[in-house]
Amino acid sequence: MGQNVEIIEVSPRDGIQNEKKLLSLETKLELIDRAIKAGASRIEVTSFVNPKRVPQMADADEVCAALPRNTDCKFIGLALNRRGFERACNANLDEVNFVVVASDTFSQKNQGTDTETGIKLFNELTKDTPQSVSAGVTIAAAFGCPFEGEMPLDRLLHVVKGCMAANPFELALADTIGVATPADINQRIAAVRKLYPDVPLRLHLHNTRNTGIANAWAGVQAGVQALDSSFGGVGGCPFAPRATGNIPTEDLVYMLERAGINTGVDLQSAIDAAEFIERALEKTVPGMVMKAGSFPKPTESAA
Ligand code: MG
Repeated sequence: MGQNVEIIEVSPRDGIQNEKKLLSLETKLELIDRAIKAGASRIEVTSFVNPKRVPQMADADEVCAALPRNTDCKFIGLALNRRGFERACNANLDEVNFVVVASDTFSQKNQGTDTETGIKLFNELTKDTPQSVSAGVTIAAAFGCPFEGEMPLDRLLHVVKGCMAANPFELALADTIGVATPADINQRIAAVRKLYPDVPLRLHLHNTRNTGIANAWAGVQAGVQALDSSFGGVGGCPFAPRATGNIPTEDLVYMLERAGINTGVDLQSAIDAAEFIERALEKTVPGMVMKAGSFPKPTESAA
């Protein structure tokens, strides 16, 4: 009986949101389909944001309307404000992931409000969430802010408490700009766990400074149940300068599965999907296992 860790595929949302090349609806649906076939149990399929600010997400409603319904895979939509939250609730999704930014400056740039207003809004919106939709929250800039610098632990815990008052079904901490180290992951997950022993915890990591996969490992060891990742390691944030890709799904699957931790995701299918997104974006993506291949090779293991 091995340990299980859930991988949430975020390439259709975070993975492509900052890409200049706009992908067709058909390509986005194939990406989602590949994630389902690879074994993803949850996929962040889109975000409900202003299309003028994030053109890649302009077809959020069309993506949701075309999602396959004959699957156990759960679909998540991201929202930053009231309008986005309400759109997500009406899009026939399983979950809404609402973002509250821990620092005021980034909160203003990302969603046009300060942090306290974001916390209040999340508490207000969750009172009217339809029964069919689970509301979770992601606390962005939980490990550092692109504008204000260090995120004091006290400040983060204040934001966590404010959001937890709304009773989200899951709490995610996001290293939006990829500044965390494994020591930070240990410290912050332990601090949150001490306050809330039962809430399912999720980590959203960026590999901006090459600490992403180490942070994922630290998170798993610290008891995080779910990790966000994207095929090929694509990703970025339109409102955070120099934010680069998420951790690559296939690299994460390789590390966890080879360490005896079950993800439910098939490595070769994830590699194929990473190659698919690389072709679609017409540029080299950061993933490493897709370039090196798995180990041992199937023929070697059979020999
Ligand atoms: Mg992100």
